[in-house]
Parts: sequence; structure tokens; C-alpha cells
Amino acid sequence: MTETRPAPPPPLPPGSTIGIVGGGQLGRMTAMAAARLGYRCHIFAPEAAPPAGDVAAAVTRADYEDTAALDAFAGQVQAVTCEFENVPATALQRLAGHVPVRPGPEVFAVAQDRLAEKRFLNKAGLATAPYHAVASASDVAAALAALGGQGLLKTTRLGYDGKGQVRLGGPVSADDAWASLNAPTGIVEGWVDFSREVSVIVARGGDGAMASYEPVENVHRDGILRTSTVPARISQATADQATDVARRVARAFDLVGLVAVEMFVARDGTVLVNEIAPRPHNSGHWTIDACACSQFEQCVRAVAGLPLGVTARHSDAVMSNLIGEDATRWADLAAEPGVCLHLYGKDKALPGRKMGHVTRLAPRTAAGTLS
Ligand code: AMP
Repeated sequence: MTETRPAPPPPLPPGSTIGIVGGGQLGRMTAMAAARLGYRCHIFAPEAAPPAGDVAAAVTRADYEDTAALDAFAGQVQAVTCEFENVPATALQRLAGHVPVRPGPEVFAVAQDRLAEKRFLNKAGLATAPYHAVASASDVAAALAALGGQGLLKTTRLGYDGKGQVRLGGPVSADDAWASLNAPTGIVEGWVDFSREVSVIVARGGDGAMASYEPVENVHRDGILRTSTVPARISQATADQATDVARRVARAFDLVGLVAVEMFVARDGTVLVNEIAPRPHNSGHWTIDACACSQFEQCVRAVAGLPLGVTARHSDAVMSNLIGEDATRWADLAAEPGVCLHLYGKDKALPGRKMGHVTRLAPRTAAGTLS
């Protein structure tokens, strides 16, 4: 599905350099897609040997607070995007003083903070789980009581892959939950008894054109994404609702770039937004192998000002993450007929670390036919 308004900005010509802030696998796959379109990528990341560095034209290794390094980086790129949403917004603001940053720093400032994110979504008329801001153990106990006795305590900032979360309403007391969070503020969310988790990835160009991928069904274990499957087992009405929600998020941010919107489908069919990520997303990796234009190429197109690509898929797909030791099976997976194997070039297979993924394709079946 696409939607357009006039006056597209001039695209970056091939040979231009796109700066990517963050050096993980998302940056790696973005740089690979950029290279296919004739762009170079320059990675800015604090860590030694970032996975994206293996496939990029240049790497700046510096802290996100290093203003001299940020200024030098900005002088060597024609546009900047971010593969990691916890980059300090001040670093992105500094870059935006020199070069277009897409999506803009204000989008990251919202997405980095669960409370700001929920308020933003609710203001845009989008439903989320009920929540309370908390700053003490007694706040946690009061919030839990107000939410019917079942919920989750989450950090407001720097949470990902289920980190910084404690289940409430079971054996863990409010006091212990609050102590384990080890943060000055938090958020207590009501427990959502969902039937499915889905996400929708939307790209939006500088001209307001949008292109969204079909909703994908996600399964998490221990807070970490394990599999993403298309078509999702949801009705057409739910798929339409999820797509509409994601497009409304992109529009509300006046976003240029990509946003992934993770949603719960409640048992009554209502769609609630869980989280947004203004960057390519793990639940969109299937698009590399099942679509002519992947989420990574789509991100590059939006950032470079090229027309957005077609989002239709030619196959059904199941993407499975290779987490920690899973990746030691690389030789068997490489031998499996038809499997699309992606390894991120990381050396240590630490528990919970995303080392790669595989996508298995099957002939395309219709979307949204299941309930
Ligand atoms: P998050 O890091 O907030 O995306 O949470 C990771 C996973 O924990 C989600 O994908 C859900 O599977 C689960 N989860 C998070 N929040 C809730 C909630 N309010 N109710 C039920 N499950 C949740």
C-alpha cells in the first residue's frame, strides 16, 4: 500500500555516503542494502570491531558524547540514519546541525523513553496497555492494585530484548521488583492477555509517501524475539487495523525513514501498541528474502530520498533468530536446502546475543485469511 503527496526532495546520487550511527547487525544489513544501490556507508560506533564495520566503507570508533568525532563524521557523510535507538538524542541533535538526520532526533527522544512513547501514542489516538509512571516501591504497589493485580514493571529508558523488566502479581514483591530495577523511575504496565503479537514496518519518504509491509506474527521467549512468521494468523480486519496504526505512528512523527510498530492483538481483536522502533527491526528480517525490496533497502531509499520500493512479498516466510549457541549449528544450517542463512560476524556466542538468523520460504499463500 502506498500513499503520496507532491514535491519529492532530490535524491542522493549513487556514490554518496550515508552515515549510520550504531554498528550492530541492523547497520550491517543496512550497509549491504546501501551498497547494492551504489552508496557507501560510514559507521559511527563506540565498540571495537562492530559487525557493521565489516561491510562499510569507513568506521569512526568514538563515544556518542565525543562532539569532535561527531562533527568530523558529519563532515564526511551526506545523510545520517541510526540503527540503534538508544543513541543519546544530544548526539543526533549535534549531527542534525550539519547534515540531515533521518528519522530526526525528536523521534529518537520519544522512542527512548517508554513513558514519552506511551504519551505520544495516546495523544495520537492510539491505544496502549494501561500504565502508571512510578518512582518508588509504594508507587509500584499502588499501580499494580489499580491495574487489577497483574502487570510488568519496566525501566523507562534503555530497555530492550526484555531487559529491565520484572513480572508483577506473582512471587516477586513490589519492594523486590523495585529494588531489582535499579533505576530512578519506571513504568508499570497492565498485563495484556494477548492472542498474538504482530508488528508492522512502515517506510515514509520526505515527500510523505508511505510503504508498509504486511503484519508479521512474532513469538518472544524470555523477552527476546524468537520467530517472525508471514502471513500472521490474524483476520483481514485485524491486519488492516494493525497497518493503519503503524501508518498513523509514521504520520504522527512526520517521519522520514523507517519505523517498526510492535503490537499486541488482544483476545477481543483490539490492537494495542507495545513499542516503536524508528529503524529497521528484527521482525522485518524476513523481507530480505521474501520481498523484492527489503526493510533495509527501504530504509536506505527513504534516507536517500529515492522513491520507496514495493513491499509485496513473493513467498511465505518464517524467520528464526540464532541466539547464543544456536549459531554453532551454522554448518548444518548452511547445508539445509533452501534455507536463507544470515550470520552477523560476531565472535562470542554469549547467551541471549543475536548471532544471526535464518529465513525459510514457502510458496505464497493469502494474507489475513486466518482468525
Ligand atoms: P518489550 O521489551 O516491552 O517489547 O517486551 C518484550 C516482550 O514481553 C513483549 O514482546 C511481550 O511478549 C512481553 N510483554 C511486554 N509487555 C507486556 C504486557 N504489558 N503484557 C503482556 N506481555 C508483555
